[in-house]
Parts: sequence; structure tokens; C-alpha cells
Amino acid sequence: MTTKRETKRERPLRKPDWLKIKLNTNENYTGLKKLMREQNLHTVCEEAKCPNIHECWAERRTATFMILGAVCTRACRFCAVKTGLPNELDRAEPERVADSVALMNLKHAVVTAVARDDLKDGGSFIFAETIRAIRRKSPFTTVEVLPSDMGGDYDNLKTLMDARPDILNHNIETVRRLTPRVRARAQYDRSLELLRRSKELQPDIPTKSSLMVGLGETKEEIIETMDDLRANDVDIMTIGQYLQPTRKHIKVQKYYTPEEFEELRQIAMEKGFSHCEAGPLVRSSYHADEQVNAAARERQRLGEEELQAKQ
Ligand code: SF4
Repeated sequence: MTTKRETKRERPLRKPDWLKIKLNTNENYTGLKKLMREQNLHTVCEEAKCPNIHECWAERRTATFMILGAVCTRACRFCAVKTGLPNELDRAEPERVADSVALMNLKHAVVTAVARDDLKDGGSFIFAETIRAIRRKSPFTTVEVLPSDMGGDYDNLKTLMDARPDILNHNIETVRRLTPRVRARAQYDRSLELLRRSKELQPDIPTKSSLMVGLGETKEEIIETMDDLRANDVDIMTIGQYLQPTRKHIKVQKYYTPEEFEELRQIAMEKGFSHCEAGPLVRSSYHADEQVNAAARERQRLGEEELQAKQ
């Protein structure tokens, strides 16, 4: 029998005003939708029901490509991307992504993928081909990639890093304690290792990671995650509010206020990240072009300070 207390606890929290989204389906938005359908491409913006789609597509005319199909071999409890047995590999996908990047005239392209645990190479070859195709067609565009943990196969990671993306982004998603509950097929330490090894393979390529909050973590656990990322040489961090995409997904335990996000951002900067973006609607790829520039400026500033100190 359900008690009154349990019913109250299970009721979803009311969404605060600062999470209200302004809808915008202007010609940029509809144009991008048309382009993605014509090119037979997927975006994480649509598949993961990202709350920023109206801003990114309509106002900034940017999107995050999701390659290797639209069906993921994992079923993380926070993610709205479809789960199942993926389709066959589409070997022409890298060229179509590169064509779209050129058509959209993107200065910074972000490419993520579903987890392909069914493939021996984890999808790393197609990832690398996508980077190379974008370089050929848009030589001045920077490329940020967000691979899965590739099952911890570091030969696959090498295939990807040999193609030299401008940023390697891999999301830690949640704190250590909650990882088995939130993303059962992933491992907290494996994600940290992927980030560390990426830097070892290509020391000049910045690494980045994102944390969702609101899943029941404590502030101490968030700070511990920052320390773990820094201990593995991660340069850029983003922190955003978890939002439950459908009723089947894990519930929100807490809505952080913009002030709390600002406090977390400051703590992250004190930990030595070259850039941290934190806010209720911040996502890994949100304003990604600005994050890259801000991180580069900070690295330059720190380099100059170091140089001055030596003189
Ligand atoms: S934040 Fe990223 S995933 Fe969300 S709409 Fe913008 S580009 Fe797409």
C-alpha cells in the first residue's frame, strides 16, 4: 500500500521559472530541420530532446551532429536517445556531415555519437573519417568530438585521436556514487581514464567534460568530481541541470538555482580548469565555440604569467 508520504516523495518537483524556455521556430530552425532530413543526419539536439534547441538552432544556427546512427546500444537512465540494435554502418555519413558543416558555415563543429558497443572499433574509424572530411571541406572550422568510452579500448581511442580533433570531450555525466544507477554500462573510472589517455596521446589537444546535477549528488561529491577531472588533466568543464526527458527516465531530485551554479563555476575555476561554464541550461555543447575561445584565452594568460614569473 502506498503511504501518503511516499506519494508526496514521488511527485515530480515543480520546474522553476529560470528553466522556462522561449520557443522559436523561425526560418533558421526550419532550415536546419530540413537540412538534417535531406542529408539523412541526426543531431543530439533532437534525439536527446535538448532544451536549448530553439536557441541554438533558431538564434545561433548551430547544432551538434550525432553520428553512427540514431540507436544506442546503451540505455542510460537520463538519456532520451533510442536504445536497441543499431542499423548497419553508414560509410557515407562523414561526407554528409562535412557537407552540412560547410553549408551551415560553422566556425566550430561538434560531433557526438551513440555508443556502438556492437562494433569492434567502437565507431572510431567513422569518427576519424568525419574529422578528416570536415577538415577537407572546411579547413578553418574547429572540430570538437564527444565519443563514448569505447568500452575502454584504447586502440580505438588512438584511431580517433590520430585524426587530431581540436577538442576531445567526454562526459563524466554524474558523480562516482550515482554512476551505476544513472549510466549502468559506463564506469566512472573508465571515463576518467579515457580523458587522461586522450591527453597522453595528444598532449596539445584540450580535453573537456560535463557534469549533470540534480540527480541526488551532494556538493562534496561535485567537488570530488572536479578534483578527479583535474587529476586527469581535464581542461574545460561544463555543469548543467539534469532535466527528466520523459516520465520513464530518472527523476530530478533538485533544481539548482543560478546562484548555486555560479558558486560551482567559481569553485571549478579555483581548481584550475581553463574554462568552466555552469548554469541551469548549460549542456556539453552549449555555446561550445565560446567555451573553446575562452579556454584558449585563459591558457594564453596562464602561459604569459608563467613566462613572466620565469623572467
Ligand atoms: S546545447 Fe548542444 S545539444 Fe543542445 S541544442 Fe544546443 S547544440 Fe544541440
